[in-house]
Order: sequence, then structure tokens, then C-alpha cells
Amino acid sequence: MTAIVWYRRDLRLDEHPALHAALGAHEAVVPVYCLDDRLLAGRHRSGPRTQFLLECLRDLDGALRERGSALVLRHGRPELELAMLCDELRVDEVHVTAEVTPFAVRRDARVKAALERRGVALRRHAGLGVVDDLTAPRTRAGEAYTTFSPFHRSWLQEERRAVLDPPSDLPALPTGLRRGRVPSLRSLGLGERAAAPLPGGARPARARLKRFLEERVERYAEDRDRLVPGATSRLSPYIHFGCVSAREIESRLGAGRGSEAFRRQLAWRDFNHHLIAHHPRNATVELQARYRGNIRWSRSRAQFEAWCDGRTGYPLVDAAMRQLRREGWMHNRARLVAGSFLTKDLGIDWRWGERHFMRWLLDGDQANNNGNWQWVASVGSDPQPAFRRIYSPTRQMAAHDPDGSYVRRHVPELAGVPDEYLREPWTMPRAVQRRAGCVIGEDYPAPIVDHAWARREALERYRLAS
Ligand SMILES: Cc1cc2nc3c(=O)[nH]c(=O)nc-3n(C[C@H](O)[C@H](O)[C@H](O)COP(=O)(O)OP(=O)(O)OC[C@H]3O[C@@H](n4cnc5c(N)ncnc54)[C@H](O)[C@@H]3O)c2cc1C
Repeated sequence: MTAIVWYRRDLRLDEHPALHAALGAHEAVVPVYCLDDRLLAGRHRSGPRTQFLLECLRDLDGALRERGSALVLRHGRPELELAMLCDELRVDEVHVTAEVTPFAVRRDARVKAALERRGVALRRHAGLGVVDDLTAPRTRAGEAYTTFSPFHRSWLQEERRAVLDPPSDLPALPTGLRRGRVPSLRSLGLGERAAAPLPGGARPARARLKRFLEERVERYAEDRDRLVPGATSRLSPYIHFGCVSAREIESRLGAGRGSEAFRRQLAWRDFNHHLIAHHPRNATVELQARYRGNIRWSRSRAQFEAWCDGRTGYPLVDAAMRQLRREGWMHNRARLVAGSFLTKDLGIDWRWGERHFMRWLLDGDQANNNGNWQWVASVGSDPQPAFRRIYSPTRQMAAHDPDGSYVRRHVPELAGVPDEYLREPWTMPRAVQRRAGCVIGEDYPAPIVDHAWARREALERYRLAS
């Protein structure tokens, strides 16, 4: 009999439990990817991330061909496309890497029902997280976790499965089967692209992982908050699309502070998936019930657009937002500062920021993005009160971009501003502004809000809501 391996966010051959199981039980295995317009054109549509996905698919197809198979592509609703393929190929099992987000859970339930009507089984496997069952860690009372630290302690104790090798060769596709082709971004109706994104695919992912483990991970604990290239792994888009498995990454970490700090970040990813699996309503509402519908958010489109475009007048926030558009990626520290600025300084709903990030991030991931936005807006899993998470863009820049190289790289108008004014360019005397080629209000905006005032307003907003 024939099995299908239905690829979704697991675009690799290495360490792939679903592929491994299908090959172990079937002589014919057909790898399929289904382009689904509900994702491509839905609420979180994204040209940059879809472009990255298309590159991952081409890379996966190449890796499958090298081993004697190929990727079969379909465009449509998976419950229909897979059902047709099952009829055509007389499939008896479809193997998948289990997912946990609300959309994926609903989609898989529909597919399961459509397959069962044909006597085909949908077999779910581990492979999304470091731990096999992301819903499993529980408090002593048997509850799911809502804060990170106790989850982390329990997560460290979870059993780890042995890492699986990639198959050396694969069964050929059935003769006469139409393969389909990886489409262009434009043909999917998506035009927007990041100017300088990372390339998609398992091959660049593995090369990046190797370099990071050999050259960087040792210093990760000290470097991870520094806004310099290479301080973090930049593996997030690859991990999001499963070009490399989180389980394998963890297995390759050695001992030492750097590895421990890195393992902890992988735990954050598993935690966010744990959260959304147990609290699917988080996709639209606050985890903390006291804040649901109670915070009086600003609806200023002008301020929101200034934030999106990197025109707030705060150099670190503007550099962060421009890095997002240029690279389809943003450093974690910059995400925190930009997120705090939107929700606390501008008082704008975290959902607006969440959506803008999903539009541009190559690693845009519902569990991670939603969990982190709720965290930085102090409405989610963070047990700290809001005042602990109101980041001063000026102080954050002093701590994490002390020489201003990050800001100068992403905000060229500020390139000639002397160091002593770079964090607060609006304090430059007029003559210095002219000499620096950066007149405030003409070449670079004056701050759109006063941070000290905004901080007081934010505290009042949260006090009234809780
Ligand atoms: C407002 C906001 C939105 C975010 N949105 C996303 C998102 O859509 N997708 C996403 O993958 N991450 C998101 N993050 C988390 C984090 O910023 C990125 O994972 C990280 O910057 C990716 O860069 P890296 O691969 O170099 O990370 P590294 O520091 O090298 O970390 C290694 C891996 O650990 C995971 N990780 C690290 N930090 C976190 C975290 N805080 N939460 C969850 N997982 C983490 C990622 O998979 C990352 O690739 C968001 C953070 C904030 C504050």
C-alpha cells in the first residue's frame, strides 16, 4: 500500500518522525505539500514569509529528488486535494507532524474526517518541538502552565526521543502522477518582499546551525541581547518552517552557559506552543481575563503608521522597524523595545502590532508572535506588572547598542549625528543638526510622543483596566 507524507511546517528530511514512520510501514511513500489559500491569503498573509516558504519547497524538492523521489504539489483545500490523491493512488495512511495552533487543529480535523470517509487514516507524529508532546508538561495539580519559569523546570525533565537519521534513498513516485510546480510569489497574488531576506531551505538552515554551534553558541549567554550581527543564531525562520528540527538542535547543544541559555530560548518556543494549544482563544483575546476588553487602546492610525514605517523619532524603535522591512527579521531585543513602544508609549492595541509583524516576519509564527506580543503588552503569560515592561528606548539603546552601529545601519539619516546626540537626536542644537545633515522635523522626525509622559499614561491605563 501507499502512504502520503503531508508536509506542512516540517520541510526537511532529517529528524522527521512522520517520514520515518511512513517509510517503515509502506513501500510507496508520496511526499505532498498543499498550498492553502486560507493561509496564503488569510488574516496573516505575508509576501516575505511566503517567498521564504517557496524557497523551502524548492529546496525540499531538490533534496527529495537527490534520493529518488520528488515533492508533489497541490493548490487548494487539503481536505479535497489529499482526498483526491488518496483515491488516485490508493493510499491507506497519511502521515503528518502534529501541530497545535487553532487553525491547524481545525484544518486537521476536517482532513481527518474527509480521509476517514475513504477508510484512510491520518497518523500524527512528533517533530514540531523539542519535546514530543507540547501539551504534556503539567503543574502538580495537573493543569497546563500559564507562566514560563515553572514550565521550563518541568520541560527540562521531559523525556527526549533519540534523533532520527535522514533516509539515504526514497521510493520513486508512482508513474503518471502529476507533480505540480512550485509557483512564483506573484502568481499567488503576493508582491511584497523584504529587501534583504535570508534564503529559505534546509540546506542554508543546516549550514547556519553548524556555523552557530561552532563559532557562536559559547558566547550566546553574554551576546544574545547585543544588537550586533551574529549575536543570535537567526535560525527562527528555519525553525518556524521546520527546515531543521528543534529536537535535533537541542540534541547538538553541549554543556556550558551559552548552550544552556540557547536551550532556554528553545523552551520559550515550546512554551508558546503549549500556551496556544491549551488556550486557543489567545489568538484573539488576552490570556489574562482581567484585561479582556478592558484596556482603552488608542486608535491613532497616524501614530501606528509612524511606528510601522520607522518614523517615531526614537532611533532604536525606528531602526528596529526598518530592520523588519529590510530583512523580514528583527532582533529579539529590538522586538521587545518596538513592542513596548507600540503598546505602552503609544497605547495601541497589541493586536495591531501582532498583525504588522505577521505581515513582514519570515519567522512569523502564530504561537510565538501572539505569545510574545501578549507578554510585552503585559496581558499574557508575564507574571510581572506592566511597569516592569515599559522599556525606555533611550536606555535600551545605551545598554544594547552602545556605539550606535545598529541604529546607524538601519536609519541612514542619523549616520552623521555625533555619538552624544544619537540616542536623543532632538536634543541636538540647531547648528549641530545642520552640520550633521540631520535637521529634526525635516530629515528625521521629532519624537511623536514624550516617553516620560507616555509612561505615566500607560500606568494609568493599566490601573484603570485591572
Ligand atoms: C513582540 C515579539 C514578537 C515575536 N514574534 C515571533 C515570531 O513570530 N516568531 C518567532 O519565531 N519568534 C518570535 N519572537 C521571539 C524572538 O524574538 C525570535 O524567536 C528571535 O528573535 C529569533 O531570532 P534568532 O533565531 O536569532 O533567536 P535565537 O536567540 O538564536 O534563539 C533560538 C531560537 O529560539 C526560539 N526563540 C528565541 N526567543 C524566543 C522567544 N522569546 N519566544 C519564542 N521562541 C523564541 C526561536 O525559535 C529562535 O530561533 C517574538 C518576540 C517578540 C518580543
